[in-house]
Amino acid sequence: MNTSLRHHLIASVIGLATAALSPALLAQTTAPVKAVASFSILGDLVRQVGGDRVAVDVLVGPGSDAHVFQPTPSQARLVGQAQIVFSNGLGFEGWMSRLLNTASYKGRHVVASRGVKPIHAEGEHDHKATGGHHHEENDPHAWQSVPNVMAYVGNIAKGLCEADAAGCNTYQKNAVAYNAELKALDTDIRATWAVIPATQRKVITSHDAFGYYAHAYGVKFLAPQGVNTDSEASAKGVAQLVRQIKQEQIKALFVESISDPRLIAQIGRETGVKPAGELFSDSLSDAQGPATTYVAMMRANTTALTQAIQGH
Ligand code: ZN
Repeated sequence: MNTSLRHHLIASVIGLATAALSPALLAQTTAPVKAVASFSILGDLVRQVGGDRVAVDVLVGPGSDAHVFQPTPSQARLVGQAQIVFSNGLGFEGWMSRLLNTASYKGRHVVASRGVKPIHAEGEHDHKATGGHHHEENDPHAWQSVPNVMAYVGNIAKGLCEADAAGCNTYQKNAVAYNAELKALDTDIRATWAVIPATQRKVITSHDAFGYYAHAYGVKFLAPQGVNTDSEASAKGVAQLVRQIKQEQIKALFVESISDPRLIAQIGRETGVKPAGELFSDSLSDAQGPATTYVAMMRANTTALTQAIQGH
């Protein structure tokens, strides 16, 4: 073998070795992007888009209520060390801006619901000083409509691309694949409801968390508590709801995993309607439950709702 041929061969082998080191292997040796998501459902969405390149910590875990959350000092430290923070927005995390200040956080903050059309909820608040008043506020539970979450996925991918340009291709690929899964989920939910007459699609839940689901899938939800959980349901409101359940013969009565079940139990006693089980509104379930991911949560809720209405 002459010298130039040997050099050529060696160069080829080095070339192959370099090619083999390309993105997949390099990605494994890079430390993952440190991300913090405000609550469990959003944490799952960030994991779906981020894949192996992103390590996600969640502030409000499964079974907890983000409306009334109080961050601990160790959670403030976690935020301080993050490279990117995700929140829902629409007034869901009233504690977020103070937490970012406390943590002296200077990194990216992605509001996942950006661009989603908000639904306005009429809130009733019993302010003792003003004698009570009505006012309009945004319903923050936009994730209860699958098309909205497809917009969340776009915002998450964009944020991750800005925080980690080297992973941008991966994030975009993951987002496209996940959005295809969400499209199929949306189609399935519509098909499941399609067999139930519109007049029968009435449900009682603990707090008013299903406005977007109602709007997207043509279901009427009634709740003793408003879009926030920080104020008590009024006795007058509960009495009204009891009358309505009797008049309209509503059969689907649900508690939510994050809510105190006593109020729904009381409504059950007063109407003679047996609570049909648990819905997941603002939180995923723990690992043993039926709602460990967003997709599983939407499927579990839809199955529980349609079966209760059909009397299963
Ligand atoms: Zn809520």
